[in-house]
Amino acid sequence: MRRLGGLALALLLGAGAASQAATLIHAGRVIDGVSDTVKTNQTVVVDAGKIVAIEPGFRAPAAGDRVIDLKQGTLLPGLFDMHVHLTGEYSKNSEIEDYKLNEGDVAIDGVVYAQRTLLAGFTTVRDLGDEYRASIALRNAINAGKVPGPRIVAAGKAIGTTGGHADPTNGWARKFPANPGPEDGVVNSVEDARKAVRQRYKDGSDTIKITATGGVLSIAKNGANPQFTEEEIRAVVSTARDYGFKVAAHAHGAEGIKRAVRGGVDTIEHGTFMDDEGMKLMKERGTFYVPTISAGNWVYTQAQDPNFFPPVVRPKALQVGPQIQATFAKAYKAGVKILFGTDTGVSKHGENAHEFKLMVDGGMPAMEAIRVATSVPAKFLDLDDKVGSIAVGKLGELVGVPGNPLEDITAMERVSFVMKDNTVYKAP
Ligand SMILES: [Zn+2]
Repeated sequence: MRRLGGLALALLLGAGAASQAATLIHAGRVIDGVSDTVKTNQTVVVDAGKIVAIEPGFRAPAAGDRVIDLKQGTLLPGLFDMHVHLTGEYSKNSEIEDYKLNEGDVAIDGVVYAQRTLLAGFTTVRDLGDEYRASIALRNAINAGKVPGPRIVAAGKAIGTTGGHADPTNGWARKFPANPGPEDGVVNSVEDARKAVRQRYKDGSDTIKITATGGVLSIAKNGANPQFTEEEIRAVVSTARDYGFKVAAHAHGAEGIKRAVRGGVDTIEHGTFMDDEGMKLMKERGTFYVPTISAGNWVYTQAQDPNFFPPVVRPKALQVGPQIQATFAKAYKAGVKILFGTDTGVSKHGENAHEFKLMVDGGMPAMEAIRVATSVPAKFLDLDDKVGSIAVGKLGELVGVPGNPLEDITAMERVSFVMKDNTVYKAP
């Protein structure tokens, strides 16, 4: 009767004939994203998008209930990737595509990559830089249920300095107009820095991204030099706080990392040439490190082909690539707080989970690698009341993998079940 009443109400409210039946997941193992204990042979019940019960044994379905058979696998909370670029993917043609792609091309790519990301088990991502505000449009379309994809915490256009890693006109011939300002995310003073943050607020961004040092893939010589003054970073951070934004800083070089940490940013992205002093500062201030080992590995692999990257990029890729995993290992051992992030869009969308293997190879236990991709980022993003763990009352954002990822972490790369928005997007 209750079920029928719900259906009648849904029709009355014009919500369509949404099924009121529950989804019963029969899980061989449950890793809840918080605890160190793995529960075996459990039923997790999702009704109307929320987890309503977790009980031992395999509960028999009522009429109309859907059963997901994950008895041979492991159920986990939906995964977080704290550094992606959903509206693009780097390729051999990227330099020329910069001159050819329009807003529509980028937006449609974003729809494809968002779906790929979701099906790989990532139900929440932080998008740390786009063009044409496409990640914001994509976020809105996903939230409205128009296209499938992860929940997006969007930075919109990253903020850099003239000639810096986020200057969108690097490498352009002088015949093209190329002197962007704060509106396009290029700043050269404290005043510009404030204006650029306020512009992101106007654009509808959720968070702020700066490029505190040079980067690998930009058309510029140095991949590690500091590109902001500490004063400019402070202006970004203090203005960001007025609008409730956290600040992520792309940073490879040791000096730029330290300026960003002292300037008050919340996360250091890549962190390649982080020194002991930088690690100490991050620990003191509670700054998180998002290593993106995947991106380092990917650029290093591609750079073995002498013709893959533009000539100015290749030496940077060869230098930065192998260093990131070593830095991650050192920073983790030193006790720097870590968040899972890949910089996917450099590497291929849908391959995000390979980062787990790289983190475990770098010395992080599998259970901890799972936590820094679930409950830890959920708390960082103030989403832990809804997602990031498997508990009664949380949203039914769940992922299944075959076997036991604590024994073979590459199981995370073979996601067989994805649920979000009360919809099963992938079933074993
Ligand atoms: Zn990035």
